[in-house]
Amino acid sequence: MNYYPRHGRWCNARTFPTDCWNCGKSIFVFMCDCHSVVLFDELGQPWPKHDCRDQSNRVDVFGGAQYTSEVMSFDDEYEMEIVKAKKTNKLKKWDFVKCDPQYKDAVQDVGVIRDIVLSVDLWNKYKLEKNTIGSAFLGRLKDGEYGQLTIHTGDITQESGKSYTFMLNKKLVDISKIIRHSPAGFRLRAHLIPGHPPIWVCEKLSL
Ligand SMILES: [Zn+2]
Ligand SMILES: [Zn+2]
Repeated sequence: MNYYPRHGRWCNARTFPTDCWNCGKSIFVFMCDCHSVVLFDELGQPWPKHDCRDQSNRVDVFGGAQYTSEVMSFDDEYEMEIVKAKKTNKLKKWDFVKCDPQYKDAVQDVGVIRDIVLSVDLWNKYKLEKNTIGSAFLGRLKDGEYGQLTIHTGDITQESGKSYTFMLNKKLVDISKIIRHSPAGFRLRAHLIPGHPPIWVCEKLSL
């Protein structure tokens, strides 16, 4: 007997509007903690999938997913909630709100990459001199080379989505290979540079 997972609140299911990273069309992306990613042209029956493979022909971008898009289903409650959210026309004003960290915050989520800055000069950005004091201010960020990513996440049953902008150590991942609009899992931690608001720094990025 085949196992058909039914995704819902229990696996942190979330669905939100985005653009396809392959063809640029306005679509919806579904993601959950089972590492499932499914793209839909429309929400609701018959749940038309956006069948647009990227160059490597992968639909599951996280690897190791327990299903292909063909055996995907939601639990009834979650399905009802997202169809209702769509009907109430929330989507037209559905927006992504910038989430800045508080001191010592950490966050882990999956989302869609919206913006990529290949290189950020932290010394220059925070007007620090390259001396002992400057190094102390940058702390663990002083040795790496950094880029910056912005990721959108959320669920249309909420008032708005979330937008995270964070520093990414280039040793962690080759930032030049990251594709705009593609999904990514991420773990961020707040970093404090004295005299500035805390910033998000990436600890883990799964593409
Ligand atoms: Zn799931
Ligand atoms: Zn597409």
